[in-house]
Parts: sequence; structure tokens; C-alpha cells
Amino acid sequence: MRSVPILVLRLPELERIAWRQGKRAAQRLERRAARAFAQSARQCLRSLDLLAHDPDSDVFVAAIVQTPRAGEAQRTPGLLDCRSALERIAAGMSVATDAAIESGWTVVETLTKPAELAAAICVALERGQRERERYEFFATVGHELRTPLTSIRGYLETLIDGGLDRRTARRFLETARGEALRLGRLVDNMFEFSLLDLSCASLGTTLCDLSETVDAACNVVRPLAAARAITVKGNVTSRALVKIDADACLQALINLLDNAIKYGRPGGCVEITISTEGSFVRVLVDDDGAGIEAAEREKIFGLRVRGSRARRPGTGIGLAIVKMIAERAGGEVSAADSPLGGARFELLLPVRAEFVSSAS
Ligand code: ADP
Repeated sequence: MRSVPILVLRLPELERIAWRQGKRAAQRLERRAARAFAQSARQCLRSLDLLAHDPDSDVFVAAIVQTPRAGEAQRTPGLLDCRSALERIAAGMSVATDAAIESGWTVVETLTKPAELAAAICVALERGQRERERYEFFATVGHELRTPLTSIRGYLETLIDGGLDRRTARRFLETARGEALRLGRLVDNMFEFSLLDLSCASLGTTLCDLSETVDAACNVVRPLAAARAITVKGNVTSRALVKIDADACLQALINLLDNAIKYGRPGGCVEITISTEGSFVRVLVDDDGAGIEAAEREKIFGLRVRGSRARRPGTGIGLAIVKMIAERAGGEVSAADSPLGGARFELLLPVRAEFVSSAS
């Protein structure tokens, strides 16, 4: 008996639409999804492969039954074949319905028993969910490792080019070493720090000197800013101790500055300002880029959400990390228009009044 790979796609939106807008609206959406499913599946599967969808169901199934043609490898389609076919069909359905599609695949030994097919559908969707979580975990980790690496490379390249006085060269080496150490801590704490481990301890248990952290964050992003001829200005007029883990705070500030530089105007300027606001310290990160559509200012904090004006490469993860860090520390983050003409991000972090003192 030959193993049969089963690709499963699910449209969870269907149930919500049926509940909120009624059966007719759900049926219209279902017809659009079914058409897109058939069309995309035809493009990436063979003509004898089976497609199945029960009316009023949110599940769409493809069974890869056609034996390979002579000359093609005699094997069951592997992980990558199934995944790439799934991705393409899911993308086609998602575009046609403007809704998220859940997907997954598995292999069954027989197609004759409906109960086994129902069980296989569950197994496939569970596997898809696990794969998505793994992808998100590694994408998050990759995002966090990228900035320290770019920063270290930038400082080392400047040092190799030479021509720096001893003090500046030493400062550059210290920043690069600081980032290498932070990279090590990130790797050590990878699991604890991942977005997926939402059960991990609150980040508001230690104190962090925000004025020092702002300096450190500005130093980390300077090579990125130099590459776009952007000036980074830190406006820190008072020392402020906030209740947050220092590494987590540095990560949040780096992500905001990194974005301000990435989406800012080439040759422009980025500013980071600290002030106290009751029992909170307010951190403002301003840039003079294209800014963010008012309607998107909340959504962009979602995981893997990118704005419609984003013209630079990205993963849609950085702001989700900032939001998670802020909320775990008992603070919050929001986006607005900047007086500089671009975007303004406001990060509020809790502080106790006795920890704030004026700079000497
Ligand atoms: P990424 O930058 O990888 O897309 P983020 O989560 O860091 O992911 O940001 C999400 C989206 O928010 C970006 O795609 C972009 O549209 C928008 N954004 C973030 N920061 C800025 C900024 N300073 N100026 C304009 N848009 C921004």
C-alpha cells in the first residue's frame, strides 16, 4: 500500500462571518475560497491529485495520489514539496478571501475510511500550528541576533579602516565587546526571551538606569545610522531608574531606534528623548521619515504585521517584541505623528518617584 500525503487548509474566518454576518455572507466567502483553492491547487499539483471540500465546512483537503511520471523520482513527496505546495495554495486562498488560512500536512496509509481522514485532518492542522510556532520562534531569535551582529561588524570595519584616535578606537572596541556579550546572553536566554514563552517571569523585577541604556542603544545603532547618513541624537536631561531588566530595556530601545533609522529619511535625523510623567518615564523616539498611517498605528504591534508604507525589508517582529517587553514590565508603547515629520514611538516604563533625580 502506498502512503498518500494529505494537504489540509482551513479558513477559520468562515465561522466568524457566519456568526456575525449570517449564512449568506459565509457562503459567499466559502465560494471564493473554494474557487481559489481549486485554482491554486491545479497550478501546483498534478491533474489526478484529489481535491475535496464539503459544503458549509471550513476545511479544504488535497490528496497527492498521482504516481510520478516516468523519469520523475519514485518517492512520496517530501517535506519541502508538501510545504511549498501548501504555502502556494494558502497564499492563493488568502489573497482571494483577504483572510488568514491555517494549513498543515500529513501522510495517511489509506483513503478509504472517513474516520481516519478526519483524524488525519486534525493531525495535519496540529503539525501546521507547531511549524508556525517554530517559524515564529526562530524568526524572533534571528531578529534579535541581527542588530548586535550588524553593530559589531560596523565597529570592526571602521577600526580596520584605521585613522581613529586611541580614545575613539577604545570606545568602539568597548561597544563591540558589549554587544558581543549581549549576543551571548541573548543566546543563553533564547528560550526564556522568545515571544512564544509567554509564561516566563515578569520583566519588571530589576532596576535599569535609562540614561545609560539610551547611550548604549545609541552606540549600538550608530553604524546603521552612519550607513544611511542619519544623525542620532539622545536628549537625556535626567537620570531615571526604571523597573525593567536592563537587557530587555536595551533591546526595546534598539528595536525602536533601528526602525527609526530604517524608515527614516536618508541624511535625516532620529531623536530619542527621556522625560518623567508621574510614576512613569516616557521615552520618545522620533524620526523624519514617511511616518505611519493613522489606521495602522495599533496593528503594527502585532506579530508579523508590516505597515503599508514599509519600503524596506523586514519581518514584522521588532515592534511585537517592544510591546511584549513594555507590557511585561508594566508599561506600554504606542505610535503617533512626530513633530520631526515622521513617526513617533512613545514608550512608558514604570518608575518610583524616589528613583528620579535631576542631572547634575
Ligand atoms: P519590520 O520593520 O521588520 O517590518 P516591525 O515590527 O519593527 O517590523 O515594524 C512593523 C511595521 O511598523 C513596519 O513594517 C513599518 O511599516 C512600521 N514602522 C515601524 N517603525 C516605523 C517608523 N519609525 N516609521 C515608519 N514606519 C514604521
